Amino acid sequence: SADSSSEELRFGSTGDPDQHVAVLPGDFQPNASVFAHNLLPAPGGEELTRGFLQEVVDILLGYISKSSQRSSKVLDFHHPHQLKEGLECFSLDLPDQPETLEQILVDCRDTLKYGVRTGHPRFLNQLSSGLDVVGVAGEWLTSTANTNMFTYEVSPVFVLMEECLLKKMQSILGWSDDVGDGIFCPGGTISNLYSILVARYHFYPEVKTRGMGVLPQLALFTSEQSHYSVKKSAAVLGMGSENVFMVKCDESGKMIPAELESSIVTAKEKALVPFYVNATAGTTVYGAFDPLNAIADICQRYTLWMHVDVSVELFNFKYLFSRACSVTWNPHKMMGVPLQCSAILVKKRGLLQECNDFGAEYLFQTDKNYDVSYDTGDKSIQCGRHVDVFKLWLMWKAKGSEGFGSQVNKCLENAEYLYDQLLVVTGNLSFDHTPEHSNVCFWYIPPSLRGQPPGPDRDARLHQVAPRIKGRMMEKGSVMIGYQPLGDKVNFFRCVFSNPATQQEDIDFLLDEITRLGDI
Ligand SMILES: *Cc1c(COP(=O)(O)O)cnc(C)c1O
Repeated sequence: SADSSSEELRFGSTGDPDQHVAVLPGDFQPNASVFAHNLLPAPGGEELTRGFLQEVVDILLGYISKSSQRSSKVLDFHHPHQLKEGLECFSLDLPDQPETLEQILVDCRDTLKYGVRTGHPRFLNQLSSGLDVVGVAGEWLTSTANTNMFTYEVSPVFVLMEECLLKKMQSILGWSDDVGDGIFCPGGTISNLYSILVARYHFYPEVKTRGMGVLPQLALFTSEQSHYSVKKSAAVLGMGSENVFMVKCDESGKMIPAELESSIVTAKEKALVPFYVNATAGTTVYGAFDPLNAIADICQRYTLWMHVDVSVELFNFKYLFSRACSVTWNPHKMMGVPLQCSAILVKKRGLLQECNDFGAEYLFQTDKNYDVSYDTGDKSIQCGRHVDVFKLWLMWKAKGSEGFGSQVNKCLENAEYLYDQLLVVTGNLSFDHTPEHSNVCFWYIPPSLRGQPPGPDRDARLHQVAPRIKGRMMEKGSVMIGYQPLGDKVNFFRCVFSNPATQQEDIDFLLDEITRLGDI
């Protein structure tokens, strides 16, 4: 229940190493007189720093190890007001006086305790999931280095790693060596925003200095099942979300090319100027792939920028994207790289730089003692930029391209297994959706609805089933899975597989749990 403070599920019992900051070994004896100001760079603070970080490592290790145990809860759910009121030793309030390091360690432990274990095998809520140990090491090293991606001057190694990753990614896209450019940015939404920004600049470079007032009214095209970031970006970039045409999809969630073409014609009739089409590889709900070649043909015919928003990985789809002008590649989704890590890849080299550069003289001096083409930060719409590349680079080294490929294949096998199991129990758990990638969508029909004929009455009740079951799952902490309505379909479950920890037994558990909680 929501007020339970136990971390264990009732059916499990293991030791609970991270419940308490235990007796502290070695040189670190946190007590009422040890504070952050005693740590490095304080003189003689080395031992204390080592001891403190060792304690933090122990807390993280306890968390990582528990996250992989099925007997642990996925989450220890509390309502916002409960967390705000404070629980046991955990208070969100910020003090005027420093608290002891002992309390700081308790805060670390409790922050994890009341959070959600996205690396738990039964966390199936989002594509961004999993707990990759090498990725965690990469993130920790990154924050230890605490530097900024804007210039080679302060990030020599990371800037070259970014170049190396982008080149590798471009070769997987099937772009030739002499084209291609890109940048890492904070997520798929921002990658998509970049794609619209550079497309607009490509056709109308004057927009950079003179603004939207000198441009015709532009039209953008994306499928009705694409990610909402396309509309949001159009709004942010001053083009207006109403000028984004939501192209109809077929039953499986793919954009219909003929509908795209007729939307383009309609836009022109309304005196709008079409310039940009977003295609999706792996839609948010169904995981559907838009027909990229047919869309590329239309873009070619009407001279439109073709962007592809890829939420899936690309190792199994090499060269499918060779005709795209730009691609969003989001390693913090299927590839399981710790948040955040996303890239925008642009085929036309130099465009990102031209579109975004302002040559700030305090940062991007042209008379430095090295090749300043490696000061890549002016390609970005940011100034300071977090190092998102290292953890990806490190994971790529640790797995190889093949390792990423097989990690993804395992997720696809899980999706197939769930779908097969749904067929076995069809009638109670059903949906006419064959998964194309790692998303599986289905309804659970509880016993009380099974006799009822399909229609508005049954739909109204079915609509409440998934949220009710999900709420119970969260309060119990047993498993997490998403749901939503879509078009004329009332709320259904959407299970996404990207978590490498998930096994078939977790899928069996999920189905049993839905049945258990749905029949109450
Ligand atoms: C997740 C997703 C996005 C948004 O990415 P964020 O990193 O969450 O901003 C965009 N498009 C698709 C297809 C996605 O799956």
